[in-house]
Amino acid sequence: AKAAGRGTYRFFDEGLNRKSGYELELLRDMRHAIRVGEFFLHFQPRVEAYGYTLSALEALVRWQHPRFGLIYPNDFISIAEKNELIIPLGQLVIELACDQIVDWRRRGIPAVPIAVNISAKQLKSGEFVGKFISTLVARDVPPQLIEIELTESCFVEDIDDISGKLKEIAALGIRISIDDYGTGFANIGHLKEFAVHSIKIDRSFVREINNTTNDAIIVDSIITLAHKLGLFVVAEGVETKDQLTHLKSVGCDQFQGYYFHRAVPAKDIESVLKNGK
Ligand code: C2E
Ligand code: CA
Ligand code: CA
Ligand code: CA
Repeated sequence: AKAAGRGTYRFFDEGLNRKSGYELELLRDMRHAIRVGEFFLHFQPRVEAYGYTLSALEALVRWQHPRFGLIYPNDFISIAEKNELIIPLGQLVIELACDQIVDWRRRGIPAVPIAVNISAKQLKSGEFVGKFISTLVARDVPPQLIEIELTESCFVEDIDDISGKLKEIAALGIRISIDDYGTGFANIGHLKEFAVHSIKIDRSFVREINNTTNDAIIVDSIITLAHKLGLFVVAEGVETKDQLTHLKSVGCDQFQGYYFHRAVPAKDIESVLKNGK
């Protein structure tokens, strides 16, 4: 038993080392990768409850690593957030989204708003608002075509600073939504004091909506309260017809998820943009 125990421990230990070795390599490669263009975007459509017409695209960052291949953000965003690298990476994502809008407009492809995920650390950096605005202005991108998604963690500290920044952003016509709603500790009534336009109900609630009464009740009351406060509600991670039926019955405004579309490269979205659905 002793030997087995030790063996198990050693195996576990090696696994840990491998993981931190991978993270260390990603961290070491990241700055260079930002500079040479290894990061790019996939886009996932968000659709209206009525008619399932296209309402926006969410920009989701990917890393084409020269040795590890295609890497998804769950592997590198938290590493970037632990360091200051999320700031240049986040700025790059904004630039890539703007460049994509410019490209579509130039080619006569009807553009819809692109929603970009912004990390708390990025939003809190002193230069964020100024840099964001000058990026749009430099490319002549109408602010109505860019949205931002913020997690609840943006709303727990430095409230006055955040509130001021969001007002400035919203005043330009940029819509702000609260991402992964329900997983953090932000109070929905409190959120209304910020210049927030919509909430996105986290996938974890949507996943259980037909299975557990509690999640159905939570989703139902989030939607009711959000509507009373004048907020739009998006459900993320919609995968099944049953989830969709439930979400429609409780008045959810928009949907995003594999049931409709996966996140795909820009060129694969163009037919959706041309058809509007
Ligand atoms: P998120 O903002 O909640 O984005 C939704 C994630 O769920 C995406 O994963 C998307 O591909 C996935 N997804 C969409 N529909 C479904 C579905 O029906 N079922 C399931 N199982 N998954 C679905 P992805 O692209 O791997 O992104 C993961 C997270 O990484 C994002 O979660 C977001 O928090 C973060 N992220 C992505 N891009 C950026 C970025 O540019 N900046 C920052 N700060 N974070 C980003
Ligand atoms: Ca998001
Ligand atoms: Ca989300
Ligand atoms: Ca989520």
